[in-house]
Amino acid sequence: MNDTNTFFRPNIAHMEGYMPGEQPQTGNFIKLNTNENPYPPPARVLDRLRQACTEDLRLYPDPGAAKLRQLLADTFGTAPEQFMVGNGSDELLTIIIRSFAGEGDKIAYPYPTYGYYKSLIEIQGAQCVEVDFPEDFSLPAGLAKTGAHITFLVNPNAPSGTLLPIDDIAALAAQIDGILVVDEAYVDFSEGGSIALVEEHANTIVVRTMSKSFSLAGMRIGFACAQPELIAGMWKVKDHYNLNRLSLVAAEAALEEIESMRQNAERICRTRDRLTLGLRQLGFHVWDSAANFALARSTSVPAAKLYQELKERRILVRHFDQPRLDDCLRITVGTDEEIEALLNQLHDILTT
Ligand code: PMP
Repeated sequence: MNDTNTFFRPNIAHMEGYMPGEQPQTGNFIKLNTNENPYPPPARVLDRLRQACTEDLRLYPDPGAAKLRQLLADTFGTAPEQFMVGNGSDELLTIIIRSFAGEGDKIAYPYPTYGYYKSLIEIQGAQCVEVDFPEDFSLPAGLAKTGAHITFLVNPNAPSGTLLPIDDIAALAAQIDGILVVDEAYVDFSEGGSIALVEEHANTIVVRTMSKSFSLAGMRIGFACAQPELIAGMWKVKDHYNLNRLSLVAAEAALEEIESMRQNAERICRTRDRLTLGLRQLGFHVWDSAANFALARSTSVPAAKLYQELKERRILVRHFDQPRLDDCLRITVGTDEEIEALLNQLHDILTT
């Protein structure tokens, strides 16, 4: 019998493949495991989506996403040529790797961070260079010295939620020769934002998503901002119709309703503060988070056990079975009621 693995490129045969957080299709869970927004998108966004369900869906979408890119330019005070939109920011990360790193080339990132980078690098047959974050998740000095073709930095970082100052990021952009990708998936929950760096640093790409702060994870919309020459080069790698018609409509409407996103993010930040305080009162070590989740290190009961017990009580959180994270839980900020339920259940588990 054939070993089907022999059909695959060796790097694909040998890699493990990324495991996204669970998306249970049945059962009634309080879902605090994949950093989705607990609140719905604005009613106007949903209305626009309904209106867009017409026979025009037989036509391909605009491959240039001209209207959306103009709206992005207006929102961020830059030019449309500085934006590329993607089918989720994950697609943009793929496009960046395919554009700037070949087989065997180094791609660096601090550890621990967003685990999907490793999978994307392995798919490309490139070489992962992991530079350990210090315990406080400040920028590791070694990250500037890897000689990598691409350096990824999540800010605020996932899963720690910690925010690096913009000056540190500017210094890194100036120090490295390769591309710097600042993945700002969670930036709307923070005081940060490095789109302004793009003007000064020709090697810098800022990537954002509408999955978290804009409550649109189901629509798969991300955008990248860089100097026009980088975007133009990446355009050669992108699938032509990467954003479908409905996602384009949703993204345009969401930008027109950006004030609603900001208020929603503020509300989530207030709940995050309650979550952080509650977890600390229960004895967890919690890093200061600038995102819509918190990383909590359990100092008594093993985190894997807490994860299981919470799941049995219909609450899903994220546990990573990997170095430096296996004694931690990453908990998404839900509604106030959801967070209260989580804290009550944790209290119950820890005291019985
Ligand atoms: N970057 C980071 C740091 C993330 O946590 C995520 C979500 N898992 C993504 C990118 C991808 O988000 P999306 O593809 O939904 O835009």
